[in-house]
Amino acid sequence: MKKDDILRLEIIDIGADGAGIGKADGMTFFVKDAIIGDVVEAKIMKLKKSYGYARLMKVLEPSSCRVALVCPVAKQCGGCQIQEMAYEEQLRFKENKVRNNLIRIGGFAKDSLPMEPIVGMEEPFYYRNKAQFPVGTDKEGHIIAGFYAARSHYIIHNRKCYLGAEINEEILNRVISYMEREQVTAYDEASGKGLVRHVLIRCGFTTGEIMVCLVVNGDRLPKSEALVKSLQEIPGMTSISLNVNRERTNVILGHEVKVLWGRGYIEDYIGDVKYQISPLSFFQVNPVQTKKLYGLALEYAQLTGKETVWDLYCGIGTISLFLAQKAKQVYGVEIVPAAIEDAKNNAKINHIGNAEFYVGKAEDILPKYYEDYAAEHGGERAYADVIVVDPPRKGCDAALLETMLNMRPERIVYVSCDSATLARDLRVLCDGGYELIKVRPVDQFPMTTHVETVVLLSKGEIDSKKVRVEFSLEDMNMSGFQEGATYGQIKDYVLETSGLKVSSLYISQIKRKHGLEVGKNYNLSKKENARVPNCPLEKEQAITEALKHFHMI
Ligand code: SAH
Repeated sequence: MKKDDILRLEIIDIGADGAGIGKADGMTFFVKDAIIGDVVEAKIMKLKKSYGYARLMKVLEPSSCRVALVCPVAKQCGGCQIQEMAYEEQLRFKENKVRNNLIRIGGFAKDSLPMEPIVGMEEPFYYRNKAQFPVGTDKEGHIIAGFYAARSHYIIHNRKCYLGAEINEEILNRVISYMEREQVTAYDEASGKGLVRHVLIRCGFTTGEIMVCLVVNGDRLPKSEALVKSLQEIPGMTSISLNVNRERTNVILGHEVKVLWGRGYIEDYIGDVKYQISPLSFFQVNPVQTKKLYGLALEYAQLTGKETVWDLYCGIGTISLFLAQKAKQVYGVEIVPAAIEDAKNNAKINHIGNAEFYVGKAEDILPKYYEDYAAEHGGERAYADVIVVDPPRKGCDAALLETMLNMRPERIVYVSCDSATLARDLRVLCDGGYELIKVRPVDQFPMTTHVETVVLLSKGEIDSKKVRVEFSLEDMNMSGFQEGATYGQIKDYVLETSGLKVSSLYISQIKRKHGLEVGKNYNLSKKENARVPNCPLEKEQAITEALKHFHMI
């Protein structure tokens, strides 16, 4: 078997990133765009010891879950990974991904997992309220706009994206006609020359308000009034602006925004809460599902109006403001100062007076609050009824989990965008005495492999006097992890987070490097000087990450 060989593969599974998995001669092959049940012809692109990557050449027998692609450029574009999979099947895949991670990485028992059915969308297209189209020039010198091809900066010409608002196409048509008419150049990444880099469009799905922001390699736009005149004709147009970005970087937006016409922001709602969104603000991109996701967080929090709630990793305060409507007091913590500015402003425009926001790392602010409180109150423990966390993909910091366990809130609501780190953190919280009550995945991003999950944990019996007063990660029963997550758990975690397959031998090498005990049989060659393969750097880093994740180092 060698590179460029053509294989006939039956697709029997699906990888974490959505690629189909087939086996041939004992080797595992990952085939992008192939789905479970397909029989395909695929060409070997990359061959490793036990697995490889193959390119889909032809679908010989289509799976019963295969549907016609809606978008003609879906294969080239990096946006949709599983559009060829029937939506019902996508939901099944995501639900299984969460379940499997909880079992394999979290070590939860399969039969007693309190999984609720995934929350899907009725209309899984046109759901994004934000689009950023790169602008460039094709070989014939025509201005093009579209999307980057997967893992590249090559622009796929496409003005109609089926995930975005339908109006985006009309807006792009008008921006490009204006550029052609007024001979405004597109930016060229290679030379750093040319003016227009990106077109950023945001739509308020509830209010109907539209924002267009041109990201330019300069500080002005020639004949901008012609562009404004054209865009103004679109119903709902509310804000037209320029964003100045002269840097030779991949970062899309610069720091400075110049309003060309209208307001500097649009408004939109999630539930009853109103948000002001400027070109630089963070805002959830699927407001329909966000309402369901945060509605679940609110339901799980079981608020009656008397509770003190912490919302950690609060961003612009979306969850905090949702919760504040039903709680006595909400404290939000977020690392990005501009997001906290937005959160405070959003609290103000909604007349919400019981939400306070702090800038900083959740793992610094909460532990410090806990310690200061004890110092000021004669050793008394700071208390919260509910703690909500919505961390980025890397999950919660160990110091934060420890403080949460010390504070012992009645309920913990964990909103996660990465079920691998979720599973790891839930294990820590459950070993600290919490009980897993509900797990519900929510599909925020149809056609992609991403999945969000909301989890409810309850304090259960933990508060009885029998239990020691202070928990710490050191004296908690972490045997499942401190002895080491199992080799299987580490392998699963590495595959899930980095796509790499690692052997037990490599894991033992890296464990040993960090001074951890390894099983007697690992890495000890029978003969004195026998050659043992050394773990490549990329895998070493992935394994080290896993060891950290499992709090083993
Ligand atoms: N619930 C938020 C979004 C959460 S996304 C909303 O709807 O707006 C995760 C957030 O965590 C991001 O805003 C990110 O800036 C923030 N973040 C990342 N690391 C953090 C840390 N160590 N402490 C606090 N916030 C952090």
